[in-house]
Amino acid sequence: KLRETLEVVRYDKRMETEDIDHKRIERELRRALIEGHGLEVHYQPIVPANPGAGPTRYEALARWTSPELGKVSPERFIKVAEATGLILPLGWKLLDLVCADMCLLDKARVSINVSPTQLMSRGFAEKFTAIVLSHGIAPWRIEVEVTEQIVVRDDATIEQELIALSHNGFTLALDDFGTGFASIGYLTQMPFDGLKIDRSFVRSIEDGQQGMRMVRSIVGLARAMDLSIVAEGVENEAEAVLLRRIGADYLQGYYFGRPAPASAWVKDSPTPKGP
Ligand code: C2E
Ligand code: CA
Ligand code: CA
Ligand code: CA
Repeated sequence: KLRETLEVVRYDKRMETEDIDHKRIERELRRALIEGHGLEVHYQPIVPANPGAGPTRYEALARWTSPELGKVSPERFIKVAEATGLILPLGWKLLDLVCADMCLLDKARVSINVSPTQLMSRGFAEKFTAIVLSHGIAPWRIEVEVTEQIVVRDDATIEQELIALSHNGFTLALDDFGTGFASIGYLTQMPFDGLKIDRSFVRSIEDGQQGMRMVRSIVGLARAMDLSIVAEGVENEAEAVLLRRIGADYLQGYYFGRPAPASAWVKDSPTPKGP
């Protein structure tokens, strides 16, 4: 009985601290959006599995350092931003940053994460397109990544906005494939161009035949539907070798490079010449 009570107390305490954290993150995030600093975007390379597959692409990943809270992980602040609606202004701010960085990344394609809340706001695709075009960037250079959460929401606006994005020339990828509820069947109904196999599956291929078979069948189905396949969270050579063999088109993970500012990926940058 006592132990039960203690468990409850401990649980309450944890909820409370999470609540306070949530409030502080919300307040500081609001401030960051008004003052316009502390927010950054890092880029992680998405490399072709085989030389024929095309040039290296990048995934844009949000980074935030608050003067009060220090570095806050995107897992945490994106969650708060989603719950409070701050994801809308935050998303536009991040899109501006990405567009500005894309001139550094030369002709490379960049993937941008878009959350279900963003897609549920009517006119999202139109505004997204207008911002990209205002920077003089061709839509085909941008891929929009959405998680399987959109399937759970089953929202008509989300579908409309995805169709509009695709119509406007952006490519669409289903992120974290295998962790949620999206089926390959769902992928055929929506204008997706590719899927990203979640790193939990990538991890499983080294565990033996079961994992290997699973990833192989995902790749087979995706291939049959003409979807491009990115394997996420590749951390070592063994995984890379197996994923190439299975037939993934692109590989992404710490093995190939950690997220870093756009300037870190600038190739052949002219060395400044002194007088
Ligand atoms: P995600 O879209 O699945 O992004 C991939 C995450 O895996 C990134 O975490 C990346 O740093 C991490 N990662 C990459 N390679 C490896 C690896 O080899 N091993 C392991 N263990 N991890 C790896 P990050 O940057 O912390 O982002 C976390 C999540 O936050 C993202 O997951 C995405 O859902 C969300 N997020 C990040 N930036 C944005 C954004 O601008 N907008 C939205 N809506 N969500 C974002
Ligand atoms: Ca992603
Ligand atoms: Ca992912
Ligand atoms: Ca994830």
